Amino acid sequence: MINFYVLTLFPEMIVSGMNNSVIGRAIENGLISLEAVDIREYSTDKHLHVDDYPYGGGAGMVMQPEPVYRAFLDIKEKTGKKEIRVVYLTPQGKVFKQEMAQEFSKEEDIIFLCGHYEGIDERVLEMIVTDYVSVGDYVLTGGELPAMVMMDAIARLVPKVLNNDSSAELESFQGNLLEYPQYTRPAEFFGKKVPEVLLSGHHKNIEKWRREQSLIRTLERRADLLEKAELSKEDKEFLKKVEIERKKTE
Ligand code: SAM
Repeated sequence: MINFYVLTLFPEMIVSGMNNSVIGRAIENGLISLEAVDIREYSTDKHLHVDDYPYGGGAGMVMQPEPVYRAFLDIKEKTGKKEIRVVYLTPQGKVFKQEMAQEFSKEEDIIFLCGHYEGIDERVLEMIVTDYVSVGDYVLTGGELPAMVMMDAIARLVPKVLNNDSSAELESFQGNLLEYPQYTRPAEFFGKKVPEVLLSGHHKNIEKWRREQSLIRTLERRADLLEKAELSKEDKEFLKKVEIERKKTE
């Protein structure tokens, strides 16, 4: 069980984005909980303003510290926790990876803080944020999509969220390899046949083929991952052979 709290100016975006498919079912079944908290409700301004001009000038608006802090305190009190992970989604953070998803999936409560406009006043970030996380080297208009990306990746690692628990273990990035290609019916599509071995019912051969495909695919698409991959002697020999073959055809 993991509880997600999202501090946002657009709670409806979070609710409609998360209440579907696998994650929607996990919420319904009580495997995860999700609360989208509207920062605007914590504004002390009579017009419910939550942003203001940046000190020092420059373009855009900056989210004020007080509504964010008050929303955070409310959630923290609700959890009854002294310490709580607060993730600020920001292009200036550490880039989100599967390993990070695994680490976060062990938490009981996580608060995601979504910025908008030019971002959030630095002082409140210093006071409450434990993790600065980016979803990649590009700039989005808000932290809501990145928060949803993180919650989706974390939630599917929570036991029982996926129907078949082993499917999370075999996927891309486990052991720093990409997954092998997948096929389903029909056995022939526009003349393209499913690899013979997958129809053989010979489990050992299928396993070997999948491992090799996974190695080839990682070499071709994400060679950088191979440096950290857990490779057996056979894997290394196989990769060597593939590289020799590739050089021949170059
Ligand atoms: N002025 C900020 C800067 O240059 O670092 C960018 C602000 S951005 C327009 C508005 C908000 O979107 C940020 O506060 C953050 O919450 C979110 N955001 C934008 N890009 C992101 C990314 N790559 N990863 C995570 N969050 C991002």
